[in-house]
Amino acid sequence: MNQKLIERFFRYVKIDTQSREDVEDQYPSTDKQKELLNILVEELKELGLSDVQMDKYGYVTATLPSNLSSSETKKTPVIGLIAHVDTSPDVSGADVKPIIHKKYNGGDVVLPADPAQVLRFSENPALADHVGDDLITSDGTTLLGADDKAGVAEIMTAIQYFTEHPEVKHGTVRVGFTPDEEVGAGTKFFDVKRFAADFAYTIDGESLGEIENETFNAAGATFTVHGVNVHPGYAKNKLVNAVKIASEIVALIALEPSPETTEKREGYLHPHGIEGGVEKATVKVLIRDFDEDGMKTKAAKLSAIREKIAGKYPKAGIDLEIRESYKNMRVKIQEYPQVVEYALEAVKRAGVEPKLQIIRGGTDGSKLCFMGLLTPNIFTGGHNFHSKLEWISVQTMNKAVETLVNLIQIWAEKSC
Ligand SMILES: [Zn+2]
Repeated sequence: MNQKLIERFFRYVKIDTQSREDVEDQYPSTDKQKELLNILVEELKELGLSDVQMDKYGYVTATLPSNLSSSETKKTPVIGLIAHVDTSPDVSGADVKPIIHKKYNGGDVVLPADPAQVLRFSENPALADHVGDDLITSDGTTLLGADDKAGVAEIMTAIQYFTEHPEVKHGTVRVGFTPDEEVGAGTKFFDVKRFAADFAYTIDGESLGEIENETFNAAGATFTVHGVNVHPGYAKNKLVNAVKIASEIVALIALEPSPETTEKREGYLHPHGIEGGVEKATVKVLIRDFDEDGMKTKAAKLSAIREKIAGKYPKAGIDLEIRESYKNMRVKIQEYPQVVEYALEAVKRAGVEPKLQIIRGGTDGSKLCFMGLLTPNIFTGGHNFHSKLEWISVQTMNKAVETLVNLIQIWAEKSC
């Protein structure tokens, strides 16, 4: 299993699949993502899967048919395994040269093509859990693309295991490979109905043994300040400067918890954009919290800021608009706790201590949960995503494959 998994992973990371922000007129955002998606279509066919398809958006789906009796098959939920093929727009994913560092000795790892890129033991606490493992990195000039080609390779390897071991019982498995996750559009055109899974998992997490079942609730707020522009030489008692008012709004938000002062379960307000002039200025703010109440409190805080500033500048117009982006998937997943329980059990059967984790962000899974498909996230083994210092342990990748193989069997066992 080991060798095939690494061969696959190397094959996939060498294909540039970087997605692009702010592309409105085409999907996926870059054509090159389809190169890998096309290869996956061929490989899924070679593995003997049925219904292998790429739709007009580039979504690749396939079916591993159940090998249970027809009455058992009916009782066993169809399980989806999903990973994304694109890599982050932040760092180049062109001409990736993956390197295996055999038997990691616990020191610093210098990436050979750029000695400034050093994976330091002291700055990467997760490395301590992988002394003795074989680590994979890029050569230091690009990201590695373990996010999420590790997930793709792990799903393919798990599926191959079932095709080579017909004696191992499993229900119907659906495979889904998606583009444009890194630009927040991985599920934009995903056809949940046609995918026809009862439950699914994204294989897009990080550390060994982690199952993620919670994401932030997320909303975006925009303050729009309407000032009054007058020639500054004749402006006394007339000019209302939207630039100054916008900066006062930011100064008040800056007193609240922010991304740089919070961790774990703490939410925040994050002013991430300010633009405009005397006549009109906008301030954009991200609102994040794990609880609905926390979201409401934070939205109320912004309203209070709006009112305070509006009171101080009666001649200015100050609007506040708040839009929901995504919600904490926990509220959906807890409707069917087995989805997470079985994943934890699958990790345990791979000889690993399972850990439930929260994600300080969103996932494709959180969107799918609200589109009707419960989808927690499973570890891939990757670390330092979206960076030239991205790394992954070969041994952890194998554990991820084992976890998937166990998980599919557990669903069959518990259902029949
Ligand atoms: Zn990812």
